[in-house]
Amino acid sequence: KEQLGIHILSSNISAFLFPTLIIFEYMSLDEDSLAYHCDDPPGKIEIRTTKSTSTQRDLSLAYSPGVAAPCREIADNGDDAYQYTAKANLIGVVSNGSAVLGLGDIGAQASKPVMEGKGVLFKRFADIDVFDIELDLDDLDAFVESVAAMEPTFGGINLEDIAAPDCFQIEERLRERMDIPVFHDDQHGTAIITGAALLNAAELAGKDLESISVTFAGAGAAALATAQFFVSLGVTRENITMVDIDGILTTERAEAGDLDPYSREFARDVPEGELADAMIDADVFVGLSVGGIVSPEMIQSMAAEPIVFAMANPEPEIDYETAKTAREDDIIMATGRSDYPNQVNNVLGFPFIFRGALDARAAEINENMKVAAAKAIADLAKQDVPDAVRKAYGDQPLQFGPEYIIPKPLDPRVLFEVAPAVARAAIDSGAARIDMDIETYVERLEA
Ligand code: NAP
Ligand code: MG
Repeated sequence: KEQLGIHILSSNISAFLFPTLIIFEYMSLDEDSLAYHCDDPPGKIEIRTTKSTSTQRDLSLAYSPGVAAPCREIADNGDDAYQYTAKANLIGVVSNGSAVLGLGDIGAQASKPVMEGKGVLFKRFADIDVFDIELDLDDLDAFVESVAAMEPTFGGINLEDIAAPDCFQIEERLRERMDIPVFHDDQHGTAIITGAALLNAAELAGKDLESISVTFAGAGAAALATAQFFVSLGVTRENITMVDIDGILTTERAEAGDLDPYSREFARDVPEGELADAMIDADVFVGLSVGGIVSPEMIQSMAAEPIVFAMANPEPEIDYETAKTAREDDIIMATGRSDYPNQVNNVLGFPFIFRGALDARAAEINENMKVAAAKAIADLAKQDVPDAVRKAYGDQPLQFGPEYIIPKPLDPRVLFEVAPAVARAAIDSGAARIDMDIETYVERLEA
């Protein structure tokens, strides 16, 4: 507030009213949020029992002595935990609080509202239960050991808001160790939704994935995973240029030891340069970096019918209107914001991906399952949108085209399309513990 106050004092009168309105908006959002969270009971989640607990008999089933029976079954066959415990519908949302939203390294305790919030989204969109686990651990080995030891509890682990490059190693090691899905949503959730948007944008622009050139601003958790996923979708690795705060990722920088092993994968044998250099003639720009670093001239320097995904939050690399105005309407644009068309929002992915993975009792979320999710999301955008969904979004037209390349999160069909696609891919790729009839599964979801 102090900073904002100084900002107001230093503004002239004409600029005074506008920032004031914005400040009031943020202040009321902050105040409302604090009130929302501290309303009794504090926080946003609680535990409920799912079985009858009204009689002495009920209690002796729920706990001792009756509870020994399922224990013995599980001791004989570990997979019976899916049948006799809540494991099959329970995700651990695990963080160390090292890269929380736009807030940075605020620590484990302060990240708890975000992790509880993630639980709210899992429940609201896919009826999945969550234990949020905030681990006060800076040490990478200790973190990996702690999460790996939690395998008996959960049907899956959603790693959340862990800083790069640690997040890559943590996920890699846990995926190796654990026989349940381990999925760092800030990486792969983003990659899948952005991938879905790319599939449709490329189709609309008449661009072939194999030959498009893609420039990334950012080489962090989200950007590296998204670039990797674009390759899974058919983009040629050599056509991807990544730019971090020091410029283009080049082999020269890699050889000089300037890049970590993960960003080194995308180093190119090209001359040194800045973002502006990397954007000339690019077909696609993907911003997963910081706000305001792309100019209209940079957008103008891109190839015909450019695809621009400016997804830094809360301020995109270039704002929607500026980018649109920079081109004569031949641009397809997406941002991370809800107040413009084509919001790339992870909530379109993780609840439904985990729904499908849990229901197939998958041992992992592999590349095939991720690609299946992206394709299901992309395909859904081509179908007619029900009136109820249109109403929920203020009667926007929502018809497949440059202003609607991905579905809306509140569209109930996302669950019915994405979860079965992921479950089917889990079965086909051998990741599923059980076989299931997908048609019956869809009916069950819709019921
Ligand atoms: P991160 O791991 O911290 O990565 C940020 C990257 O941006 C780093 O590689 C950093 O380079 C680079 N960078 C910083 N300033 C730059 C500049 N001026 N020019 C070029 N690159 C620059 O963070 P993250 O989790 O990947 O997230 C990155 C951004 O994407 C955030 O704004 C986040 O909110 C947004 N995001 C949006 C969505 C969505 O819309 N669905 C999803 C995920 C993330 P150095 O490593 O050299 O510092
Ligand atoms: Mg996150």
